[in-house]
Amino acid sequence: MNQVRTRFAPSPTGFVHVGNIRTALYAWLVARQANGQFILRLEDTDKNREVAGSEQHIIESLKALGLNYDEGPDIGGKYGPYRQSERLDIYTQWGQKLIDLGKAYADPYTSHQVQKFRDHAKATNKPFLYRHHRPEKPPIWDGSQPLRFKSDPKKYKWHDLILGDLSTGPEVIDDYILIKSDGYATYNFAHIIDDREMRISHVIRGQEFISSVPNYLNLYESLEFTPPIFATVPFILGADGRQKMSKRDGSKDVMDYIKEGFLPDALINFIASLGWNDGSTQEIFSRQELINKFNLEKVHRSSAHFDDRRLLWMNGHFIREMSFKDLTARAEPYWPSGADKFDETYKMEILGLVQERLKYLAELAELTKFFFVDLPPNPELIKNNKKLSALSIAECKNLLVQARAVLNACEFKIDDLTNCLNELLETTKQSAGVLFSLIRIATTQAPSSPGLAETLSVLGKQRSINRLDQQIAALNPG
Ligand code: GLU
Repeated sequence: MNQVRTRFAPSPTGFVHVGNIRTALYAWLVARQANGQFILRLEDTDKNREVAGSEQHIIESLKALGLNYDEGPDIGGKYGPYRQSERLDIYTQWGQKLIDLGKAYADPYTSHQVQKFRDHAKATNKPFLYRHHRPEKPPIWDGSQPLRFKSDPKKYKWHDLILGDLSTGPEVIDDYILIKSDGYATYNFAHIIDDREMRISHVIRGQEFISSVPNYLNLYESLEFTPPIFATVPFILGADGRQKMSKRDGSKDVMDYIKEGFLPDALINFIASLGWNDGSTQEIFSRQELINKFNLEKVHRSSAHFDDRRLLWMNGHFIREMSFKDLTARAEPYWPSGADKFDETYKMEILGLVQERLKYLAELAELTKFFFVDLPPNPELIKNNKKLSALSIAECKNLLVQARAVLNACEFKIDDLTNCLNELLETTKQSAGVLFSLIRIATTQAPSSPGLAETLSVLGKQRSINRLDQQIAALNPG
């Protein structure tokens, strides 16, 4: 087989979301698996939709996820340039060649005239097709008119690695614009030329292009190009499974996930699994395992579902599995304000306690705030805690007074603390659910925390006792 060369060909029209990255990732995996090349090509021929800064953003997103490319706009390569706006001459030459072959013509119509054709088709109940209105004597193409492909309507059968065998009739084939009157080639033309010139072996892209494939096949044929292998990746639906993924469902900028402390490997694992698995029940894959096992033919034909709870679970898994050294480095930007006044050993103890619970790194600030600042007693926490609902304020206060006495006499080491807390359970005849929730609230002012003995041992005796005193003073039965 020829060299495997795949490409990610985004248009610079804004942020890069999970759906875009999924096609990039699949293309990357296919290339890496075959020791081929993965190419970044910027499809910037629609100047009206262009958003400033997108190119940088795309590059930054790929880098952040570790999807390295072998050729691209910023690094060059043998088949460059890799920005379509820098390849206009190439499209013009191919356009001219099609004219010479009798396969393209300058479109002389104004939009007003086209509208009349459309109205007529509608009035006579016929589908509107450009090819029914080919000018008898098209003008010489001077670039001021659109250049339109002169199609050759016929049936097509083709194979898509994901969707399987597909076929269409001649009625879907029509004359379409190759080069617009502003001099820019359309996507429909430019990508075909570029994929050929860049020796792309597999075109892996979203489902929005599937209905155009027969027209592309017609153009490949006119140009005498062998079409690449096609793999059409189905849509991603929101968690409700009905609508195409929306912003609310997680169709957000991939860089936002990175900024929130989702790990590149977890994101890669999650995105790969949107519509793909290896046929087993395995859910966690390392990058290398994905490279080894990924198979376009196992991508599901039906739409994938975006489930952000699954992403959180997966990211939590990768956080728990990562080395402590790595976690320490990655967690650095996420400490709550004020943490910088504390020494590293203290912070490391805290990080060790929360590693189990962190689902994404930006949670670190909220989960660990109480280790660094003394929060004033919040009466709501006791009032709203279901486990404490059977206790009066006076009983809560009384329990905390007893706890204070026992803890004050306790060594703040985990084993001693565990013994002291158990002793308290016996003397107070309370359940752990009740008593420990109360002590936890008093000492952390947080609804949850790591294990109580561990938390107290890191907080230390003085801080814990002071906080118990404050909570006791704030509880006013009456
Ligand atoms: N520029 C197209 C897009 O951003 C690329 C489609 C393709 O991969 O061919 O959707």
